[in-house]
Amino acid sequence: MRPDDTLPEIRAIFTRLTGSEAFGSFVDGRILAGSGDALDLVDPATGRIVVTLADGGADVVDAAAEAGRAGQRVWAALTHAARGRVLWAAAMAIRARLDDLARLESLTAGKPLADTRAEALKVAEMFEYYAGWADKLHGAVIPVPSGHLNYTRYEPYGVVVQITPWNAPLFTAGWQLAPALATGNAVLLKPSELTPLSSVALGAIITAAGVPAGAVNVLVGAGHTVGAAAIAHPACAKVVFVGSPATGARIAAQAAMRVVPTVLELGGKSANIVFGDADLERAVLGAQAAIFSGAGQSCVAGSRLLVQRRVHDRVVERLADAAGRIAIGDPLDPATRIGPIISGAQHRRIGDLVAAGLADGAVAVAGGGRPAGLDDARLAGGFFYAPTVLAGVSNAMAVARDEIFGPVVAVIPFDDEDEAVAIANDSRFGLAGAVWTQDAARAHRVAAAVNAGTFWINGYKTIGVMSPFGGFGESGYGRSSGYEGLLEYVRVKSVWVETAAAPVAGFGYAPQA
Ligand code: NAD
Repeated sequence: MRPDDTLPEIRAIFTRLTGSEAFGSFVDGRILAGSGDALDLVDPATGRIVVTLADGGADVVDAAAEAGRAGQRVWAALTHAARGRVLWAAAMAIRARLDDLARLESLTAGKPLADTRAEALKVAEMFEYYAGWADKLHGAVIPVPSGHLNYTRYEPYGVVVQITPWNAPLFTAGWQLAPALATGNAVLLKPSELTPLSSVALGAIITAAGVPAGAVNVLVGAGHTVGAAAIAHPACAKVVFVGSPATGARIAAQAAMRVVPTVLELGGKSANIVFGDADLERAVLGAQAAIFSGAGQSCVAGSRLLVQRRVHDRVVERLADAAGRIAIGDPLDPATRIGPIISGAQHRRIGDLVAAGLADGAVAVAGGGRPAGLDDARLAGGFFYAPTVLAGVSNAMAVARDEIFGPVVAVIPFDDEDEAVAIANDSRFGLAGAVWTQDAARAHRVAAAVNAGTFWINGYKTIGVMSPFGGFGESGYGRSSGYEGLLEYVRVKSVWVETAAAPVAGFGYAPQA
């Protein structure tokens, strides 16, 4: 049951995980209070301020950058196998603290406990997976003409800045920390100012497990203060950004001024395509998972549901019925499937976009506002939004074009395969997509034809740390997770050795027949 005041529990968990009673950034192995403006953390389930801490400010960024430089030297001097062992120890330390991590995330990000526990477990899996890679990523000997030896070295960037959003704070932090560390980098991680505490705790846990102090620093503060200062710092050699397209573009432009490379993991407007021959029961379950899990606050949300006209009405009816029965409420109640929206601002934005859709001619066949039946008075100020199904949508409407980032699905009918693919690809985004059909050849044709970095056949939302993830188009560039995600954290050096017995005449490379 939810206590009236969650601060004591948040503080107790934070202290258990970090050893510090005071909240703050994690820099050089310890918690550091900020010197900037007050930063209020609001509980999305109640709308009440639960924690006030200070924005890190420029001092914390400078301290973290110096600690990062020094920590990276210590970390990179270990053998690759030793780094792997430390990452494995970090994974075990995370596994031992799943309950605390999940509860802290649910208390601060408003996500249901079942979701946050699964996400904490995924973070442990990331450290396990990349622990194995630590001594297996290496360059190659290149077959160049005789008289020369050429080989490549995969070297860390040094200090990498990672900027993450609020919708899955712990997951996105672990997603980027593990490969960055496996390749010998140090990190300045700047989580969303709305949800920083679980990332700070993660930094403390993996440092206590053996990552040298300074190799992982977690900066509490706003994007325009701490985030921008971290990117501008001369120590920053690469930026990995997970967040909205507008911010991503701004950050990439800022980094480009110093020729600092970026990875951008941005938003989406993914098409979930249901053909008439699909197993409709599975497709409707999949459509719910696609858009309603995480209250739709998911980059891969299946926010456009494309349904073949002959089954359209049946699918809409079943989905609307299911949407009305999903358990929405207190994220700390184990029965809850959907929690609140992260903030009042995001809640208002969802309402405005739905209102615009209705004005454009869409019809809300489920939801469309605050859910009924939230009886607990303590949740009265929470930012809850009912699972919403908008029918009668055309792909030209704003509700089909803009990322809503809420539990709102736009249902769009289509007649045949060509039209389904054309609608799916009529988007500036290209993050994910899915097709539901029992025709295997069609499934693979559609998978090949849709512009998306991730695609599911008869499923939705499965992701694994061993598989690459990333966007096409305005959904971003670069890849996270898997082997490709690892490559984002190394730069390749080509080394030439002269092996000829006689001195080589001439300058530079002499072509050989
Ligand atoms: P956001 O862009 O508002 O913020 C993301 C991060 O950027 C935050 O930490 C914020 O403080 C920081 N930031 C903001 N301005 C900055 C600046 N000028 N300099 C440096 N940092 C700055 O995004 P959000 O609202 O937190 O997250 C939601 C978005 O994230 C959605 O668009 C969603 O699709 C996307 N997302 C993408 C993925 C993916 O893997 N593709 C995963 C999760 C979320």
